[in-house]
Amino acid sequence: MAHDFLRASRSPLGNIRVSFEFFPPKTAEMEASLWDSITRLAPLEPSFVSVTYGAGGSTRERTHSTVARILRETTLKPAAHLTCVAATREEVDEVIRAYHAVGVRHIVALRGDPVSGPGSAYEPHPGGYATSTDLVAGIRRLGDFEVTVSAYPEKHPESATLDADLDVLKAKVDAGATRAVTQFFFDNAHYLRYVDRVRARGINIPIVPGIVPVQNFRQIASFAKKTGASVPQWLADRFEGLDDDPATRRLVAAAVAAEQVLDLVDHGVTDFHFYTMNKADLVYAICHLLGLRTHLIERAA
Ligand code: FAD
Repeated sequence: MAHDFLRASRSPLGNIRVSFEFFPPKTAEMEASLWDSITRLAPLEPSFVSVTYGAGGSTRERTHSTVARILRETTLKPAAHLTCVAATREEVDEVIRAYHAVGVRHIVALRGDPVSGPGSAYEPHPGGYATSTDLVAGIRRLGDFEVTVSAYPEKHPESATLDADLDVLKAKVDAGATRAVTQFFFDNAHYLRYVDRVRARGINIPIVPGIVPVQNFRQIASFAKKTGASVPQWLADRFEGLDDDPATRRLVAAAVAAEQVLDLVDHGVTDFHFYTMNKADLVYAICHLLGLRTHLIERAA
């Protein structure tokens, strides 16, 4: 197969860095579409690309094989998501060692959602890692991994207060986390206020905003409800009447996301994590607006 190798020149807007999140594909067709997206986005030279771990550990093998393929076939730096759910410490440690053995050096460490879904009470697996903090410490004990964790600008739905959430973030950092990626949000004020509180709490790791381009408003609105992210009325208004008009929806989605990231740049943000949903076009366009460029540097057969 012929590959075009492209390379990004840095952004004229400043030193912008991006990372991309994918989910492991279920079918051969989804796999082909994921790889189209990876191939399109790779020349933007992301700092890393991450691959999610299905609820309840349901994608353990698929996450591993996707991450391993990224390592084998690209020069991208993959980060593997991992949760504490439905597995003993030994089983989770085995996954971590398997990642280390194939050359993965970056894990996104999460507690994960309760087995019966978000909203129900979380019960740690007996003999498993009880919290994300324990998992971060376990990963750091097992190898020289970079560890990214989650952060919630509008607070995690299970947290009583934002301060309680900040305590959890602080514990994760003390256990060895080196970066946090936020849950998606639409109102930048939530993120900017949150970062102020994080810094006031003495937490100094990068808090990278998680940006979700709205491919499908209804789907995102329903997902937001479960994750505690608020959906402002102005956003609903912008997508009003477009349910049967995907072409206009995409243009609106690009405009909304562009507005959001450019406003964050104006506030001094330089790193962005994109929830790609395994689709490249919108994310590619937004990165272009952020000033990232690619140019052909080599062609190989
Ligand atoms: P944490 O931040 O560890 O904690 C969530 C809440 O649990 C806290 O607010 C607190 O109420 C309580 N808590 C945790 N630790 C303690 C403690 N030591 N003491 C007291 N209370 C505590 N889910 C997946 O299944 N797979 C994925 O790949 C995945 N990727 C994600 C990526 C990002 C960037 C984000 C933001 C979320 C992701 N999730 C993923 C969702 C995540 O698993 C859920 O939000 C889950 O409910 C919480 O996991 P966490 O690690 O974010 O929780």
